Amino acid sequence: MSGTLILASDIGTSSVKSAIFNLKGELLATAGVDHATSQPRPGWAEQDAAGWWDGFCHTVRQLGQASPGILDQIGVIGISGQMLGCLPVDKENRPLHPALIHADTRALEQTDKIRSLIGQEEMFFLTGNILDARSGLAKLLWFKENVPDCYRKAAAFLQAKDFIVACLTGQEPTTDYSDAAHAQWSNLAQKSYLGDVLLELGLDQAKLPRLHKGTDVAGSLQARAARTLGLPAGIPVVVGAGDGSCAGTGAGAGQAGDVYACLGTTAWVSYFSDKPIYDKQQRLFNVPAPDGRTSAVFGTVQSAGHSVRWAMRLFSDPDERTFDQSAALARPGSNGLFFLPYLDGERSPVFDEKARGLFFGAGSGHESSHFRRAVLEGVALALGQIVDVLREERPIQQIRLIGGGARSALWRQIIAASTASELLLLSTPATEATALGMALAAAVGAGYYPDIATAQKIIRVSSREKNDPELTAKMQQAGSLYRKLYPTNRQLFNQLAALQED
Ligand code: ADP
Repeated sequence: MSGTLILASDIGTSSVKSAIFNLKGELLATAGVDHATSQPRPGWAEQDAAGWWDGFCHTVRQLGQASPGILDQIGVIGISGQMLGCLPVDKENRPLHPALIHADTRALEQTDKIRSLIGQEEMFFLTGNILDARSGLAKLLWFKENVPDCYRKAAAFLQAKDFIVACLTGQEPTTDYSDAAHAQWSNLAQKSYLGDVLLELGLDQAKLPRLHKGTDVAGSLQARAARTLGLPAGIPVVVGAGDGSCAGTGAGAGQAGDVYACLGTTAWVSYFSDKPIYDKQQRLFNVPAPDGRTSAVFGTVQSAGHSVRWAMRLFSDPDERTFDQSAALARPGSNGLFFLPYLDGERSPVFDEKARGLFFGAGSGHESSHFRRAVLEGVALALGQIVDVLREERPIQQIRLIGGGARSALWRQIIAASTASELLLLSTPATEATALGMALAAAVGAGYYPDIATAQKIIRVSSREKNDPELTAKMQQAGSLYRKLYPTNRQLFNQLAALQED
């Protein structure tokens, strides 16, 4: 007997998480399992796709064991996942090589080749995304040029979620507009593969999966997978969408003009637009919503929660609460101590993988609490800088906030002030927004809701964080110095990178 519950799983960078929601958007059960990334050489980052499938099966069985009978009530399955990957599979959907994940930058030579044959700007205006060594198109070319046998044997190149969907349905693989555009495989506005570009690069378009809306049904759960998972066979499985796409849906954003921020390991601010926005300076990029109707225009802070975790490790803080309590002892502005959170380079509005973190202004009067607060303020000012770039397109007064960092009351105040915005906190647990977004898109695919906007009515604003005028003035003043830190040091970052390569 199948019911109307929704199974939504996310194939993330560090783990597979599965969740079950009802049609009111209530989270009934979750399970997660970590997986490893291997870095066989500098710049390489690989994962084992069979491990994704094992992890997925493990989480689903865990859900079934924790709540007997719950799996019989699943009416639809949706899978989201990490973006910018590249996994070659044969025609039986068997992996032919470890999956290259988003952090993999081995395709440097191929990026340069695309740059010279097609052009950096042209690629941006075709795909709405910035060409760099992490590009899915460059990864595809890397396979062709470096493992030609594997390229020849490959029936398809997939993103993480596409592999799991094909395992579930046993059908020809699919992908959606969000993953295809972000990988730079497709034309953002036309929602079709870049036929001419692929031809120019000697790449075979037939090796790319069928392109769909994330809400379309890819197929139904095949009997063998159903037995492995303990689910009834025949449940519809939707195409799914990239995690960055589902997050917006789970934040209740998706109509033109909606703005949200996700404060996780990485953070971003994003607003939705009917038409892609092609920022001339390439400071922002575009990811279509799961139904492909609107595009989320993104600016990303590479090391947000990651900076907090890094500082916690340096200061031996056992948890985020201890970190926050210490940071709260310092006055706003951290007594003139600044932190530039470019620990692993930066993505927006500065796009520089060689940039690195800075503490600026340290003096003998600074205590560890100032350093902790400076980290929270540095990330908040980075978000503020992105919000100001987004404001060049439209005014922004309110931002929906999701992600683990939203749990910190102190960080929320600092972010509200640094972005000069009111933050809206939601009824969904902040860390489950991506899963909820996938669940709602899947519910649309199953016909439970006519469209995503209707489905999103179940998401409520639970509280608001208004920006305090005094703190806002202080952070805006700090922002004007903060914004000079990168341009002043840009050349030095280049020299530093050369030194570190020696
Ligand atoms: P992910 O992007 O890994 O899915 P989550 O949305 O689960 O991340 O958020 C986890 C991040 O949020 C971690 O980097 C963590 O340090 C940060 N975080 C969580 N709670 C707090 C807090 N109270 N103060 C500061 N940072 C926090």
